[in-house]
Amino acid sequence: MFNTFKRFENFGHSLNAPGYRILARATDDIRAAFDLAKKRGLTVAARGAGRSYNDASLNGGGIILDLSAMNLIQSWNPATGVVRAEPGVTLEQLWQKIEPDGWWPPVVSGTMKTTMGGCLSANIHGKNNFKMGTFGEHVIEFSAILPTGAEVTCSPKKNADLFHAMIGGYGMLGIFTSVTLQMKRLHSGLLSVDAYPAPNLRRHLFALQDGAPDHDYIVGWMDTFAGGSSLGRGQIHAARHLREGEDPKPQETMKLTNQILPPYIFGVFPKSLLHRFMKPFANNIGWRMVNLAKYVASLPKHTFRQSHAAFHFLLDYVPNWELSYGRGGLIQYQSFLPKETAESAWAEMLSLSQKRGMPAFLGVTKRHRPDKFLLTHAVDGFSLALDFKVTDATRPQMRDMLQEFDRIVVAGGGRFYFAKNSETTAETALAFYGEETVKKFKRLKKRCDPNGLLESDLYRRIFG
Ligand SMILES: Cc1cc2nc3c(=O)[nH]c(=O)nc-3n(C[C@H](O)[C@H](O)[C@H](O)COP(=O)(O)OP(=O)(O)OC[C@H]3O[C@@H](n4cnc5c(N)ncnc54)[C@H](O)[C@@H]3O)c2cc1C
Repeated sequence: MFNTFKRFENFGHSLNAPGYRILARATDDIRAAFDLAKKRGLTVAARGAGRSYNDASLNGGGIILDLSAMNLIQSWNPATGVVRAEPGVTLEQLWQKIEPDGWWPPVVSGTMKTTMGGCLSANIHGKNNFKMGTFGEHVIEFSAILPTGAEVTCSPKKNADLFHAMIGGYGMLGIFTSVTLQMKRLHSGLLSVDAYPAPNLRRHLFALQDGAPDHDYIVGWMDTFAGGSSLGRGQIHAARHLREGEDPKPQETMKLTNQILPPYIFGVFPKSLLHRFMKPFANNIGWRMVNLAKYVASLPKHTFRQSHAAFHFLLDYVPNWELSYGRGGLIQYQSFLPKETAESAWAEMLSLSQKRGMPAFLGVTKRHRPDKFLLTHAVDGFSLALDFKVTDATRPQMRDMLQEFDRIVVAGGGRFYFAKNSETTAETALAFYGEETVKKFKRLKKRCDPNGLLESDLYRRIFG
């Protein structure tokens, strides 16, 4: 039944682990994988598109249950905006199906390559988290196979405890087989985007908090190299959907041909080669220059219209950009802090990374609101995602620094997102989830998975 034994990597190529791959094509294959694991004394971890930055879809020495071939959009109703999809359907498949009918997914990640199963398991957030909440908040119902072989259907009312624990549960309780979601109505294929600079951390956070009163999305880019009175400076993008009547030709702007990201830059140069040209700049000097140039270019405030795909999936503009970080790959560290403590915590972290000569190359900020999911990462505040280059030589110092960041975040009442951080320990996870939450999760784990078949490297790291 095993398709291959191979080495799997995280998205950032900073981690890898060998595993037996089983490609599931139907729900019976999922049950068969659990049976096989039980017989052979192995564990099983689900994998969608493998876009997590950490060990969430790695399982050293165990089975990797690949759900990417279960990728059918089972039903789509353009009158109500309700879609039902298998777990391997990607956000790319989804938006390309619904957008020409005037709908858009309510929450998307910064890449369109993620799958429904991955988005549910991590309970992803978008640039509209402060307004629309997480992916899970738009789920009408899902079905899943538990490691016992039982099939469950969950909604906010039916099996509500499982609904709130499996969404955001990183595939540790069961395998999603189908999800029904409510999409969001559009009146145009374009967004109106306001772009303006923020000269320091305080103004940056102030802009995230108050800069989008009538907007649907807000996101900040941070110059992680700037210090002193410019620490935390950056650029804010606040965007809003066009209202009915604002776009004279909505049918035209919603056409796929006007949304799909072009494969060439300047009309001739293949974007798939761009990451090779970025590689020589992937060092402190190169990225300091890139950050400075980006800040200077951001100075004049301006407003423009942009397609949904271009606004949301900026990172997909440069395919394989993560390879430009070199052999050691990259670690993304994302911390979520309440609005009261974010400024002091991030000032400390940014200064520390600069002092240690390991500044992040890229920093992205967002605004958030809390949600009701058991293993939630959200807060009433902000998040900062930092991309760090790793080499064999810097890996131990990097780990020390990120664990120091963890202490700062926990002291500030913050939280972590386990689609990203790869260095956070079980002790830290217990400190921010709290004993009651961890106990509740473990009780559910025992109920759904009495033989402990579902495990990933992430599970072993944060739940011990
Ligand atoms: C460039 C980039 C930008 C990103 N931007 C954002 C962002 O803006 N917001 C955000 O929230 N996240 C973001 N992410 C993170 C990403 O959305 C999550 O890591 C997501 O889980 C990846 O989906 P995947 O299909 O690749 O899942 P994988 O990485 O393959 O798996 C993720 C988790 O889901 C579990 N899983 C997968 N399928 C199933 C299933 N069918 N049943 C049960 N469990 C399953 C896996 O076991 C694992 O724990 C970004 C990632 C990248 C690479």
